[in-house]
Amino acid sequence: MSLENLNDKQQEAVKQIEGSLLILAGAGSGKTSTMTHRIAYMVDQGISPYNILAVTFTNKAASEMRSRVEDLIGDCSNMWIMTFHAMCLRMLRIFPEQIGYQPNFVIYDTSDQKTLVRNILKEKGISDREFKPQYILAVISKSKEKEKDAEGYRAAEEENYKTKAIYTVFKEYEERLKKNNAMDFDDILLNAVKLFERDEAALLKYQQRFHYIMVDEYQDTNHIQYKLIKMLAESHHNLCVVGDDDQCIYEWRGADIRNILDFEKDFPEAKTIKLEQNYRSVDNILKAAHSVVRNNRSRKEKQLWTNKECGEKIPYYRADTDKEEADYVARQIGYMADKGRSLNDFAILYRTNAQSRLFEGSLSQHGLPYRVLSGQRYYDRKEVKDAMAYMRLVVNPLDDLSLRRIINEPKRGMGDKSVEKIAAFAEIRDQSMMEALSDPEVLDTLPGRAYDSVKEMVECINLCRQEKDNLRVSDIYDTLLVKTGYMKALEDSNTVEAEARMDNLMEFKSVIYDYEKDAENPTVEEFMEQLTLAAEVDNYDEDQDTVTLMTMHSAKGLEFPVVFMPGLEDGLFPGNKAFDSVAGMEEERRLCYVGMTRAKELLYLTSAAVRTRYGRTDYTRESQFLREVDKKLLTGDAVFEKKSGGTSLGVSTGSMDGYAKEPYKPYDALKYARMNTRANAGTGETEFAVGDKVEHKKFGQGLVIEADDKTVKVAFDSVGMKKLAKGLAPLKKI
Ligand code: ATP
Ligand code: MG
Repeated sequence: MSLENLNDKQQEAVKQIEGSLLILAGAGSGKTSTMTHRIAYMVDQGISPYNILAVTFTNKAASEMRSRVEDLIGDCSNMWIMTFHAMCLRMLRIFPEQIGYQPNFVIYDTSDQKTLVRNILKEKGISDREFKPQYILAVISKSKEKEKDAEGYRAAEEENYKTKAIYTVFKEYEERLKKNNAMDFDDILLNAVKLFERDEAALLKYQQRFHYIMVDEYQDTNHIQYKLIKMLAESHHNLCVVGDDDQCIYEWRGADIRNILDFEKDFPEAKTIKLEQNYRSVDNILKAAHSVVRNNRSRKEKQLWTNKECGEKIPYYRADTDKEEADYVARQIGYMADKGRSLNDFAILYRTNAQSRLFEGSLSQHGLPYRVLSGQRYYDRKEVKDAMAYMRLVVNPLDDLSLRRIINEPKRGMGDKSVEKIAAFAEIRDQSMMEALSDPEVLDTLPGRAYDSVKEMVECINLCRQEKDNLRVSDIYDTLLVKTGYMKALEDSNTVEAEARMDNLMEFKSVIYDYEKDAENPTVEEFMEQLTLAAEVDNYDEDQDTVTLMTMHSAKGLEFPVVFMPGLEDGLFPGNKAFDSVAGMEEERRLCYVGMTRAKELLYLTSAAVRTRYGRTDYTRESQFLREVDKKLLTGDAVFEKKSGGTSLGVSTGSMDGYAKEPYKPYDALKYARMNTRANAGTGETEFAVGDKVEHKKFGQGLVIEADDKTVKVAFDSVGMKKLAKGLAPLKKI
C-alpha cells in the first residue's frame, strides 16, 4: 500500500502500529485521514480486520471512515468501526444478563426520558414547575457521568429539600427503567463498564479480540468513555488516540481535556506525534480561526500552516434584522450557485437549532434546496413517536412507557382511570401492562367501549411479536398501523394536519425500506436500535445536491468549500451563559474555532442588528468573537446591494473599532429589551415589559404580551389572555 500521499509525520504515525500513540494536532491537519490510512496499513501488514476497533463520535464519521478504509483495502465488514454507543450496545446485547437485563432491552431517547420523569413527578406529587424534568435529567446524567447511581448521588450531596426530591425521582427513574427493560443513553456506556467490572470473561473476550484500538476526536471523550477504552487496552496497550485540544466542545457533557494528560500518565511509554500542516483551508481562514482561539488562556499554543494560497478575505455582513441576514445568505448562495458552484459546497453552521427556521424560509424563497441536519425534528413528531412506540412493544412487551403512549392512540375510550387500573393490575401480578392486558381476565375489567379495540390492539402487537422473524420490518409496520386502527383514525379525521401526519408516516416507511435494503439481516430489533442511535448528522446524503444546515456541534470533523456562520452576536454566539464563566466562554470560543475551520475556500460571517428570539425583539451587539478576528482578514465590501435602501450592504470592518476598545462585559439583552419597550410606551414608570414572566394572585403565572402606561396584556397559563389595569392588578414579576 502506498503512503506517498501522506507527509512524513503522518507516515510515521501510520507505521507505528504497536504500542500507544497520541496524535495531537489542529483542525484539518489530516488526523482522521491518518487514522484511516493507519487502519488500511495494518490490514496490509497482515493484521486481521477482526482485531481492529476504531471508535468515532458520530455515526456519520463512522460510516465515512469505513468507506474510506474500504476504498483503500476493499471489504472490511468484520472490523468494528463505530461510535462509543454502538460499540457498547453490541457488547451488551451479547451479555445482557450480566448487567441484569433481558436481551431485548430498549433504549429510551430524550423525549422518552422526559415523559418518564414527568410521570414520576406526578405520581410522587412533586411540582414539575419547581423541578423541571429537563433539570432533573441533567442532574441524573451528570451523576451517571461520574458513575454515581441514585444512592451514589444521595451519598455525595448534602441532604436538603432539593436533593431529597431529586433523589426520590432519580431512584424511581432507575427502578422504572429496569422494570421496563430499558436503558437511557448514559446507561449504555455505564453498563458496558459494569459488564467489564463484573464479568472478567467478557472483558477478556474483547481485550483479546481488539488487539488494536483507535479513537478519533479523543478530546471529546468523557470519563466513562476513557475508562472503557483504558480497560480494553489494558493488556496490550496498542492504543492510538487522535485529537485536538482546541476542538473540545463537549465539556458541558462531561468531556474532559484532562483525558489527554491522563493518557500520557496511564500510558507512560506513549509516543506523541504532532501534525502542523493544514490541508483543508486557505490561509486567511486558518489565520482568522487562530486569531479567535488564541484568546483562550487554557490552551497549548500551536499554529497551523498551509501552503495553500491566502484566499479571499473573509466577508462580514451585519444585517439590519435576522430576516434580512437569512435573505443575504440565501442570495449569496444563489449568486455563487449561478456562477457554477454546486449546492453541496455550501453549509450554514449556526449555534442553536432554532436558527434554522429563518434560513429554511429564505432558501425556499430563493428556490434553493436544502437539508436540515437535526435528527430530532423528524423523529420528534408525534405520529412518528407513536409508530415507534408500537414497534417497540413488538420488540419488548415490558415497555410500559410505550404502552401508555399508545393505549389510547387512536382513541379507544381508555381514560386515565382505566389506564391506571391496568397499571395497578400489572403491579399486583408483577407483570408489565402489556403482559397483563394479554390476559382475558384483565381485559374483561375494561369498560365495554374500550374492550374490543384494546383487545384488537393487544392481539395485533402480540401477533407481530410471535411472527416478527417471519415478517419484513415494513410488513410489521403496516400491520401495526392498519390493524390497530391508527391509520383509519387519521383518515377519518380528514384534516390537513392528519394528512401531514399520514405523509410523515409514509416517509417513515421509506426509512424502513432504506434500512431493509442495506441491512444484511434486517430485524425489527436492529432497526429500532439504529433509529434510536441515529445521531443528528446521520440523515445526511452526500449525493443529493443541497445546501446543508446544521449546528456547529454536529459539523465536527466535516468540511465544506463554503461556510456561512450567522448570528455572531453576544448572547447568541457566544451564548448568554458563556458570560458567566471563563471556562464557558473558552468552550464557546473553541466551538467558534471548530465552525470556522470547517471552511475550505470561503468563510462568511454575519450578524443581525435586530433579532427576535423567544418572541422578543432585541437589539444585538456584535459578537465578542467577531471582534477578536484579526481585522486585516475581514472585508465588508464583497457583498450585494441592500434590498431596501440601496446603500452598500458592506459594513466596513472599521465599524467594529469602537467595540474593540470596550472592556469585556456581558451584554444584557433583557435590560435592552425593557428599555426598548419603555421608550415605546412613553412612560418612565412601566415596570412590565413584553416577555416578562409575571404572577397574578388569582390567575397564576403568565407572560406579558403588551404593555403601555396604563394596561398590561398578559397570556396566562390558566385563563388565557387578560388585559389588566396597571397599579390595580395584583401582578408581580417573577
Ligand atoms: P478535524 O480536526 O477537523 O477533524 P482532521 O485533522 O481530522 O480535521 P482530515 O479531515 O483528516 O483532518 O483532513 C482534512 C483535509 O486534508 C481532508 O480533505 C484530507 O483529505 C486532506 N489531507 C489530509 N492529509 C493530507 C496530505 N498529506 N496531503 C493532502 N491532503 C491531505
Ligand atoms: Mg477529523
